[in-house]
Amino acid sequence: MTDFILSGARIAGYTGPVDIAVARGCIAAIAPSIPGDTQVEAYGGWVFPGYVDAHIHLDKAHILDRCDMTQGGLAHAVEQTARAKAAFTTEDVYARASLVVDAAVSYGTTALRTFVEVDPRVGLRSLDALLALRDNCRHRITIQICAFAQEGITNELETLTLLIQAMERGADLVGGCPYRDPDPVAHIAHIFDLAERFDCDADFHIDFDLDPENSDLPVLIAATEARGWGGRVVAGHASKLSAMAPMDVAAMTARLRDAGIGVVALPATDLFLMGREADRLQPRGVAPLATMHKAGVRCAVASNNILNPFTPYGDANLVRMANLFANVANLSTDEDLRTCFAMISGDAAAMIGLPHSLAVGAPATMVLLAAPNPAMAVRTLAEARMGWIHGRPTFDRPPPQLHTR
Ligand SMILES: [Zn+2]
Repeated sequence: MTDFILSGARIAGYTGPVDIAVARGCIAAIAPSIPGDTQVEAYGGWVFPGYVDAHIHLDKAHILDRCDMTQGGLAHAVEQTARAKAAFTTEDVYARASLVVDAAVSYGTTALRTFVEVDPRVGLRSLDALLALRDNCRHRITIQICAFAQEGITNELETLTLLIQAMERGADLVGGCPYRDPDPVAHIAHIFDLAERFDCDADFHIDFDLDPENSDLPVLIAATEARGWGGRVVAGHASKLSAMAPMDVAAMTARLRDAGIGVVALPATDLFLMGREADRLQPRGVAPLATMHKAGVRCAVASNNILNPFTPYGDANLVRMANLFANVANLSTDEDLRTCFAMISGDAAAMIGLPHSLAVGAPATMVLLAAPNPAMAVRTLAEARMGWIHGRPTFDRPPPQLHTR
């Protein structure tokens, strides 16, 4: 019994448009033409398993109205957000995070990894909100929750206890921020201890400045190798790489690849917070993912923050992030733009350990874009037209109606 047939879709691995038959929430058949009554027309648009936001902070989104935005820079963003965080309630976090999740779903995101800060200021209030949201949204989007030590660990040892409690309550993985800790080496070790204890992935905010020296990546690489955690570790920002000499980037890239560490660039935040010291020729501060991808590092581009002092912009539309990254990185060929698309879809999913496939037998988790291929989707900021999770519709966005006379 077919639920519906998505007709005239372009998908990876096929040269022409195909029909996709969906039955009992899964893909039952893919063929050039499948007869049936319940046809949904794709009009030759690209269909794929949806965007994957590998790095977003749902807990501190939508807080511009409670922060001083007259100054800028990383230290000010951290200070303003820490102050606002102390007043977060579980209901407040749930409401703001829901806004972001709704927007993300409507733009074709089918999975995301959110960080959630746990520390003496906010305790587990934000975590409780996101645990509830993860469950309540299960039928619309996959949410991974990373219990995150934004304010350091060795300087606030209570955070270590809170990270353990967060994992016991159901967080999916742990995350650290060595640049915010007086002892980055011990901070990284603490996070790996937790990752081992709970047998989970580890995700770091790391090297978030433009000094080419004093990188924490060698410590992260050594720990990943020593713990045998290759494929389960992600480095976010890594903006120091944008300031290093090409030879040093190449050497670090090879080490990251060999260690199995993924790298996520957050272009909206990196561009907003980095390079403020320059009075001209402002540096971009975005990790050179295009080169790193070519050298075999698993790379992703993600949203990071939505409407807060770290990024006072945002709509949770990932194709806009890929387009921004492509623009900043001077990318132009179809191959490069396909890679950008992969960094917000298949490669991002692989980085955070999620399946991402349109194949017979796989769940009918699909998004239809108003573009014929991934490169054009990134070039044109293609609108997401329709989405399904396990065959259930999650949104639709009809094309605009033009009035030409
Ligand atoms: Zn972040």
